[in-house]
Amino acid sequence: MIIAIDGPAASGKGTIARRLAAHFNLPHLDTGLLYRATARALMEAGERLDDEACAVQAARGLALTDFDEDKLRGREMGEAASVVGAIPAVRAALLDMQRSFAHRDGGAVLDGRDIGTVICPDASVKIFVTANPETRANRRALELKGRGEKVDFAAVLDDIRKRDERDSHRSSAPLVAAADAIHLDTSHLDVEAAVKAAITIAESKR
Ligand code: C5P
Repeated sequence: MIIAIDGPAASGKGTIARRLAAHFNLPHLDTGLLYRATARALMEAGERLDDEACAVQAARGLALTDFDEDKLRGREMGEAASVVGAIPAVRAALLDMQRSFAHRDGGAVLDGRDIGTVICPDASVKIFVTANPETRANRRALELKGRGEKVDFAAVLDDIRKRDERDSHRSSAPLVAAADAIHLDTSHLDVEAAVKAAITIAESKR
């Protein structure tokens, strides 16, 4: 069973994907980390984020040691990942890796922006997770605070809106719900309620 979870930043898709993976005993891939790690590799090499050739090289050269979540989860890296993710050739370079993860025996859970539309259009379960921008900014602010970052709510909300705009309007694999995805709005749900709703959706599609 392939479960595709898509949605905008801080919608709750990562938590839902992790919990679904645990519930169904499936491996989980947070595909945002691929874009974040690519952006970080470019920054460390002193290259521009919109240098297509360097970005493709960085994406192709990713190694397991590049996925240190502590270094990738910050505010700056989310924004940088969104710039890199808008380059079609970078998306192409990361495609096979995601598809082979999804098509392993027994299935997998993947979360991102284009899992149900581009990476796994054949997924048996597709959930598009949303929440209003203010709720998402609140969640992101709490998460960043928890990581010890200094947080300015207005700046976090601005980031979320900018990222929505860029992710939704890029030419390649924009953030959009697959026609056959089930929508799950988590604006008024706590984590347990959101996870429960996602499990019910997945069970009904199995
Ligand atoms: O999900 P996360 O916030 O970690 O993603 C960071 C950025 O990476 C997103 O804003 C988006 O631009 C990009 N991304 C993407 N496609 C995915 C996952 C993430 O374009 N499948």
